[in-house]
Amino acid sequence: MKIVALAGGVGGAKLAHGLAQILKPEELTVIVNTGDDFEHYGLYICPDLDTVCYTLAGLANPETGWGRADESWNAIENASKLGGPAWFKLGDRDLGTHLERTRRLKAGDSLSQITQDFCKAWGIQHTVLPMSDQPIRTMVDTDEGELAFQEYFVHRRCEPRVKGFRFEGADEAEPAAKAREAVESADAVVICPSNPWVSVDPVLKILSLTPTPLPLGEGNRVVAISPIIGGEAIKGPAAKMYRELRIEPSALAVAKHYQGLVTHFVMDTIDSQLIESVRGLNMQALVTNTLMKSHVDRKQLASEVLQFIGVTV
Ligand code: GDP
Repeated sequence: MKIVALAGGVGGAKLAHGLAQILKPEELTVIVNTGDDFEHYGLYICPDLDTVCYTLAGLANPETGWGRADESWNAIENASKLGGPAWFKLGDRDLGTHLERTRRLKAGDSLSQITQDFCKAWGIQHTVLPMSDQPIRTMVDTDEGELAFQEYFVHRRCEPRVKGFRFEGADEAEPAAKAREAVESADAVVICPSNPWVSVDPVLKILSLTPTPLPLGEGNRVVAISPIIGGEAIKGPAAKMYRELRIEPSALAVAKHYQGLVTHFVMDTIDSQLIESVRGLNMQALVTNTLMKSHVDRKQLASEVLQFIGVTV
């Protein structure tokens, strides 16, 4: 059984971790959004890839969901005292990742290869890949003009009103070779509960999973888990984005977002009244607890998702 999980950062990493607790290393490939990547202090930073890897490796900061546990901030504090920007927090341990990744990229290695080597060093047995080895930059169109993603997300704390999104470089970019192979040989694709607009859409676009899907195998299943619970996001701007785009945020809105691609949809118990409307979109629907507060919750949700799409492990 081969499963591909598509993930952004925090929400994606939690379900990916649940799946990794159940599936064998050769059964799971996590393909991660790189539209949030950017350069800062001359370093190449991949926030979603790092969140997924730190989470799978057990190195993540449990309070923030991003960055590393047991972190210190000496380098960034000293840089900011010298006049450098302090709006993007980079911990000392985390900086080591960016230093080495930047060095390797400059030496000509691909982001896929570097990610695989880092995973090995961190003891991650499942495969984690960037969606592409070429740069793609999510740009957020707002009432204050177009902003680069981290400028909108971190520096401006998602305050400007969103009008739309553009994935710079996406039309020219190819999927990472191993990511394409993984999707082509997948029995099922799991769209993790990540932000549909800025975490999942870039991955779907790069992998050509919409509007003309790559040839998935016979009887293939694509399951999505709603990141919107009771009309709100657990973290981050997903619900705010839906509202600003004049769509009422709900699990149903997420299901509509993925209509035509997704065969199975998972939503929270709190949203059970939406189940018939979701089924009306030609999807099978499952209602369960989707809030992952603990490691046990992650594994439980992963196990229910796999059962729902008929994967026996
Ligand atoms: P980001 O790039 O770090 O913002 O990461 P993601 O896009 O992967 O995660 C943000 C999304 O994850 C938000 O829309 C949250 O609502 C969702 N999310 C976070 N934790 C959970 C959870 O425990 N359950 C569900 N269903 N969604 C979650």
